[in-house]
Amino acid sequence: MDESWEASGIYMLVCRVNGKRYIGQSKNIRRRLNEHRRGKGFAPLICKAIAKYGWDAFDKIVLEFCPVEELDKKEIYYIAELKPEYNLAEGGGGSKGCKPSPETIEILRQAAKKQWSDEENLKLLKKPILCIDTGEIFDSVNSAAAKAGVSRNCVSMALNGKVKTAGGYRWAYLNPEDKTSEERRKNLGKANRGRKQSAEQIEKRVAHFKGQKRENYNSYKKVVCVETGRIFDSVKIAAESVGITPCFLSKVLHGIKKTAGGFHWKFAKEVFYMTEHEVYDLLVETGAIMTAHFQLTSGLHSPHYVEKFRVLERPIYTARLCRAIAEHFKDAQIETVVGPATGGIILAHETALALGTRAIFTERVDGKMTFRRGFTLHEGERVLIVEDVVTTGGSVREVIDVVKQFGGLPVAIAMLVDRSGGKASFGDVPAFALLHMDVETYEPENCPLCKDGVPLTKRGSTGKK
Ligand SMILES: [Zn+2]
Repeated sequence: MDESWEASGIYMLVCRVNGKRYIGQSKNIRRRLNEHRRGKGFAPLICKAIAKYGWDAFDKIVLEFCPVEELDKKEIYYIAELKPEYNLAEGGGGSKGCKPSPETIEILRQAAKKQWSDEENLKLLKKPILCIDTGEIFDSVNSAAAKAGVSRNCVSMALNGKVKTAGGYRWAYLNPEDKTSEERRKNLGKANRGRKQSAEQIEKRVAHFKGQKRENYNSYKKVVCVETGRIFDSVKIAAESVGITPCFLSKVLHGIKKTAGGFHWKFAKEVFYMTEHEVYDLLVETGAIMTAHFQLTSGLHSPHYVEKFRVLERPIYTARLCRAIAEHFKDAQIETVVGPATGGIILAHETALALGTRAIFTERVDGKMTFRRGFTLHEGERVLIVEDVVTTGGSVREVIDVVKQFGGLPVAIAMLVDRSGGKASFGDVPAFALLHMDVETYEPENCPLCKDGVPLTKRGSTGKK
């Protein structure tokens, strides 16, 4: 902006993107333009347009400098003549009919020509797009989408941060300040003249960039099908396996859609970890946690009962729970997983599979817990003990004794459900449970369910303490 613009007159803003115009008057054009730049103003359409396209997308033209007392009628004249699209009011307050000078007419002619011929500027306003992972630059969302083999919408969502990746890649707008960055690039070019980078230097930079990507990106790109437990190396491969687009799968991975190809999907890192809510939902869904009116073997009544075999009879869910257990002990250098028969056999097997260790089980001989079938432990062997539902912890304590007896070291206890309400303890062996439940129990005479006349279901585990 010119110093000389610190004067009263009529100005025009022309958007180089769409050619639409706005005409205004001011006692000090320069100051008024600065207000526009900062988003101030009472004209809503031009305010919105400046916010949308950016201040640099507008050509600023002084139509005429004129005395303050002539501003109103000049403004009305120009608005009536040029019908600027961003003006809502007719402008001014005075009378119509004041002709512009020949110089002003020439300015208008030039401006009109510029609006539509300025394709260079139009191009600059299209923000270039960077593929963060490959370093490739695209001049539009379209070309980026075509290269990644996904829809434009997909890339847009990634650009706007709604999803992390599109087509398995991360995307970013390259410098949204079109004009300035262009100038900066030119200046940089000048500054670097004669200081050419060697091929090695460039190679090194590229390698550094790519190395970064490999390290912190590939690991979380792995995708798991929740139902089948199959792990895929990338979103793309996972999507192909069920015949859907990577973009659609991405939406599921980021929680925008629930299923893709009929399955639930998660990033590998997330799937191994389960919250207590997820465990609870899974157990209710499979029917392992039942809500009714139960008489337990102890004679007490309870509104809840856990039938572990409703989940253990479904390998997919059991495997998922055991992977969650394994996730907690992956750094504990476990050598063998031990569980008490019968439920513990299944849990030990699945947990050991996830940990890559051996799986053995204890069983009762004449009521006494022990190892049979030639199972042994070496001196100091690190053992993880697994159990399904723990009420008092009696069976688990017996397993601890057996492990010690055979020379093993019980490292920790892992339970699917600890329904003891925190009462079960295992001495110095730390315990972990996927789900903690504090199941309320009532003496039959105080049972609120009995009072309400809810029919009684007889349930209770056999021989469990
Ligand atoms: Zn009852």
